[in-house]
Amino acid sequence: MKIKLSKSDIDGALVTQISKVSGEDFKQCYQCGNCSGGCPVSYAMDIPPSQIIRFLQLGRFELVMEANSMWVCVGCLQCYSRCPKGVSAANILEAARQLSLRKGTDHERIEDLPVSFLKTAPQQAIVCGFRKFVS
Ligand code: SF4
Ligand code: SF4
Repeated sequence: MKIKLSKSDIDGALVTQISKVSGEDFKQCYQCGNCSGGCPVSYAMDIPPSQIIRFLQLGRFELVMEANSMWVCVGCLQCYSRCPKGVSAANILEAARQLSLRKGTDHERIEDLPVSFLKTAPQQAIVCGFRKFVS
């Protein structure tokens, strides 16, 4: 007998996967907002770090994966340093990014980068960019 999983079952399983990859327990977050308040790039995120965690608590995997937050995060760990519950939004966004790239879809296509940019950008920036945005 084939078991048909509902969308919420699948989203729940994917949320569990983010928890496993990140090593973070979303339930610990009590939504104080300190992480978002200290994040230097939350202004550019579709969904700030604290709300990313709230959506994961609610099982809304697809909203997290559609938002640009995981790509905008610079990994500065300010969120983690300010969290009174020891939850790392940085780890969670990194896990979401890993899961996205593991599907084999590049966030940035190398062939789309202008030659002028490749000629002038520091090599380290280009390599870091490839590691972050290319599967
Ligand atoms: S690690 Fe990412 S989410 Fe956390 S404060 Fe820095 S930029 Fe924001
Ligand atoms: S600082 Fe910690 S407890 Fe507060 S909203 Fe962010 S993750 Fe949750």
